[in-house]
Amino acid sequence: MPRYLKEILIGFVPVLFIFLAFIGVNIIPLLLATLLIGSLLFLANMRGGLAVGAGTDRKRKKTSPQKLTFEQIGGQDNAKQELMEALDFLIKHEEIRELGIRPLKGILLTGPPGTGKTLLAKAAAHYTDSVFVGSSGSEFVEMYVGVGAGRIRELFRDARSRAAKENKQSAIIFIDEIDVIGGKREGGQQREYDQTLNQLLTEMDGIYSSDSPRILLIAATNRKEMLDSALLRPGRFDRHIQVDLPDKKGRKHILELHAKNKPLHDEADLGKIAEESYGFSGAQLESVMNEAAIYAMRDGLKEIEQRHLSMSIDKVMMGERTDRESTLEEKKRVAIHELGHAIMAELVRPGSVKQVALSPRGKALGYVRHNPQEEQYLYTKSFLEEQIMIALGGAASEEIFYGGRSTGSSNDFEQALNIVQTMMRSGLTSLGIVDLDMVTKVELMKENHLILEDLMKRTRTMLEERRTIYEQSLDILLKEETLSGEQFRCLFREHSLLPA
Ligand code: ATP
Repeated sequence: MPRYLKEILIGFVPVLFIFLAFIGVNIIPLLLATLLIGSLLFLANMRGGLAVGAGTDRKRKKTSPQKLTFEQIGGQDNAKQELMEALDFLIKHEEIRELGIRPLKGILLTGPPGTGKTLLAKAAAHYTDSVFVGSSGSEFVEMYVGVGAGRIRELFRDARSRAAKENKQSAIIFIDEIDVIGGKREGGQQREYDQTLNQLLTEMDGIYSSDSPRILLIAATNRKEMLDSALLRPGRFDRHIQVDLPDKKGRKHILELHAKNKPLHDEADLGKIAEESYGFSGAQLESVMNEAAIYAMRDGLKEIEQRHLSMSIDKVMMGERTDRESTLEEKKRVAIHELGHAIMAELVRPGSVKQVALSPRGKALGYVRHNPQEEQYLYTKSFLEEQIMIALGGAASEEIFYGGRSTGSSNDFEQALNIVQTMMRSGLTSLGIVDLDMVTKVELMKENHLILEDLMKRTRTMLEERRTIYEQSLDILLKEETLSGEQFRCLFREHSLLPA
């Protein structure tokens, strides 16, 4: 169908009607018929069912270049390995058929946002020489019943027709955020999503090994526990691959990949940046490289220096510096709050504070930067308690000096509550080893309260004993807006305030 057919029709039909009226033809029946056909076409288009012209825009959005290879994905060695092994099913289809193995229909990639799940799916298409058709769960959510199901049909049709057109033996359909349509079906109430999910299951059941093109579904989610069991049963998404946040080696690899098209100064050390960006996802690391290049450009330089990279870590972690002007009283309060965190950090993990800053960034009015941590996969109860105490240090400090808290602690409390949750799930609280779904909310609240109250008390006591350090640190912070870890530790030593 010509590209501009719609526009031509819109221009031509009114002119034709005017001409017919002019020569004396009764155009009312024609007008009514046109209106009727128009509304029918519109409705069909809304339901995502019409093949002619309908959804061509959507189709264009779903397809993307598939030049990406596994080598262009940093870290994720295990995920890549597992995925490649699974993909051999698609490549060695003859052996698979001879042995009577049922085809692999679905692979589920699970992991936090921005870890490279979409990249892995694209690389999978390249590795297996398949057509790649990408979509997202949210594209199938519509108010009208049946629209989502229609789009699923369209997605599979699209994959098959593109494979035929491009002369490929297989097609990979990628569905990001599968949890949007594949969430658990609860109760008797029929939802529009259920029809969409049923359609997806039906399409998956219709995939056979002898089919050409062979279809493989790859779905991604960061909430696997939300998925309906029908999706996860054997024969559907029965290969699960965990795509985790990268470790130090992986982070360095990702940084190097994104530095390839950027001029780096000889002294820029990506290994150090990988160390400092603990907990960053691939997408955040890409952003670090990009922001660093922007900082270099702002400085009128042709090469990215180490300081640009360090500055962009701060920016990605805490947002851009803002020029919000606060009153002296507010600044003092922020300084007291941040010092609370910093003192606690230095007490429980000596040498861990890198900088205390009073400059507003993103939503925060001040912040404490910590030195890079050792990569750790297991946490003890005391480590988690210390982490909570560092988070509570800000509020405890405000209580000591102002007799009450402020709204500035909400993020800290959120962090503390998350850690308590982890402790409960890991059997590290007085609840013992429990299934949290079987404990009442009242009991959970009680336990939560007990843990946090006790830790708050301990934090306050430890901070009260170090009151003297606040005065000098506060002076420096208000004057300079930053206090380095070294300066801070000097004050500690002067006052002999480190724990015995
Ligand atoms: P979401 O769950 O939010 O959809 P995702 O896990 O699918 O995220 P991607 O879309 O694959 O993440 O990654 C986003 C961007 O982050 C990529 O375009 C790439 O620039 C960068 N990125 C993420 N992970 C990696 C990686 N392992 N190697 C290189 N770049 C990466």
